[in-house]
Amino acid sequence: MGMIVWLLTFAVMLVALGTYGLFRVNATMGTEARAAGEQFLQLQRDIGSAFATVGRELTASPCSDAYHAQLRRIAYLPDGLSQFLHAPDGKVACALDKPSFDPAIDLGPPDIAQDGTNGYGALWIDRDLSFLGLEGTKGSILLAGTLAVVIPPHDYGFRPPDWMAVEAVLVSRDGRWWHRSGDAGIYERVVVTREDAGHFLSRLECDEAGLNCIAVEVDLLGLVDAQQGPVAILVLLAAMIAAAATYLFNRFLTYYWSFEARFCRYLDEESVVCMYQPVMALETGEITGCEVLARWRDIDDSIVFPDRFIEVIERRGLTKRFTEMVARRACTELSSQLPSGRRLQVNFNIFPRDLDSDHLTRIYAGFIAQPQRFDVVLEIIESDEIPANAQREIERLRRHGVKTYIDDFGTGYSNMQNVAALSVDGVKLDRAFAMAPDNSVMARMLRHAVDMIQATGRVMVVEGVETPERLTQLRAMQAKIDFVQGYLISRPLEIGAFAEFLKPEPVSLSERRAKAGFGIVAA
Ligand code: C2E
Ligand code: CA
Ligand code: CA
Repeated sequence: MGMIVWLLTFAVMLVALGTYGLFRVNATMGTEARAAGEQFLQLQRDIGSAFATVGRELTASPCSDAYHAQLRRIAYLPDGLSQFLHAPDGKVACALDKPSFDPAIDLGPPDIAQDGTNGYGALWIDRDLSFLGLEGTKGSILLAGTLAVVIPPHDYGFRPPDWMAVEAVLVSRDGRWWHRSGDAGIYERVVVTREDAGHFLSRLECDEAGLNCIAVEVDLLGLVDAQQGPVAILVLLAAMIAAAATYLFNRFLTYYWSFEARFCRYLDEESVVCMYQPVMALETGEITGCEVLARWRDIDDSIVFPDRFIEVIERRGLTKRFTEMVARRACTELSSQLPSGRRLQVNFNIFPRDLDSDHLTRIYAGFIAQPQRFDVVLEIIESDEIPANAQREIERLRRHGVKTYIDDFGTGYSNMQNVAALSVDGVKLDRAFAMAPDNSVMARMLRHAVDMIQATGRVMVVEGVETPERLTQLRAMQAKIDFVQGYLISRPLEIGAFAEFLKPEPVSLSERRAKAGFGIVAA
């Protein structure tokens, strides 16, 4: 799973970084194309200004001496244009250096005819200039009106990055084109054969007339090869971001599916299950009450025991909410399922930090309101420190008829102190004593623990009674044990089973006596 998340994130990051890279490359291509176009157009501007000067200054009659003198002045301007021709209708009658041609040199049909789009006129491209005495030289001839200018081969000075190729071309309306500068063949690939698939990225920028075009091409593989360092850093970055994403995803997943997250998300009164473990008066064998033990129904309907969720409840500060849910559920179930004539002492477990009489009397109001049916006992579990105001709260609770016990006596370090310092009504000996195997240290300590509780004068409950032998031992003790609780009497029961358990069995008196001797009588 982690691997898949990593791969996915890595791929997404690569695509994102790649897209960004392409975007940047494309932007650079645009910048380069515009820069190249700018240099390309500079020549046109020079020609334009040369013709403007000609228009102003060439006033003499064509091919006269004065005409040649005026032409020489114009040709002297530092714009690289030094050869002018008088060529009405493309027939050269005289040139700057040639007083006259007889007959006139016919340039023939122009490569790009005057169509008003280029602003000047007809254009003969790359013509042999030997008729001007320039043996072996080629140049283009641009005609405006009757005057033509010779444009010498020109280096436009393109300086694109290594991984980019730029070509300037002249394009005629009918689609013919002429290489002007830069890397020959790029325009052909970009426009004519459209070979921009694969690892080539191309771009074409033309002027408005579509005459001057700049073709730009980038070989992406070449670019990656040329930029190995930065590319490696980007790939590493993508891998690291993918690793971080995987880590966060895993943590989220672990948390999302963790018991704790599920418990917090789905905890409500409906999901709380109450179990009732019968409590028996040791002397009479009568079932006098029960301890309410909470369970939680997970989303898959499995039952979760308190050892898993009590700690979560405390850590997440859900104690008050949880205690209230248990109380409400138990109140609903016990009130509806037990015969109203059956008096019962109901023991609840509460967290020390919630020892607040106002809050607790509100939570258990349903029971407190039925004093003829229920006695409420709150067992203060040994989870955290008993608060300083405990004594006051215990007394207030007593005034409302609610009793308090110290739970799990003998296991926590503060227990003895608590029993001595607090006026609790009772003490519950931790089940570890009663459950201990015979002759174990714990079993030998049982008697002393019982004596200790006896000395405090509080009601005493021994829980964890699992065997008849242990029950007999408890009965035989000098100290007065009031109540016992344990699997021998009954495991915690659901409300239906608990109601059944409380029903007097239709048995003969002798059977009941025998049973009473064993210690269990449902009164
Ligand atoms: P606890 O208050 O000491 O409850 C007695 C535990 O001993 C119960 O475990 C009960 O099922 C078990 N038990 C009773 N008799 C025997 C026996 O003969 N043998 C053995 N082996 N076990 C016996 P459970 O229900 O798992 O509860 C564990 C603890 O969770 C409780 O210990 C109590 O501290 C806490 N708890 C349970 N319900 C609540 C609740 O509603 N509120 C609070 N705050 N704590 C609760
Ligand atoms: Ca308890
Ligand atoms: Ca206990």
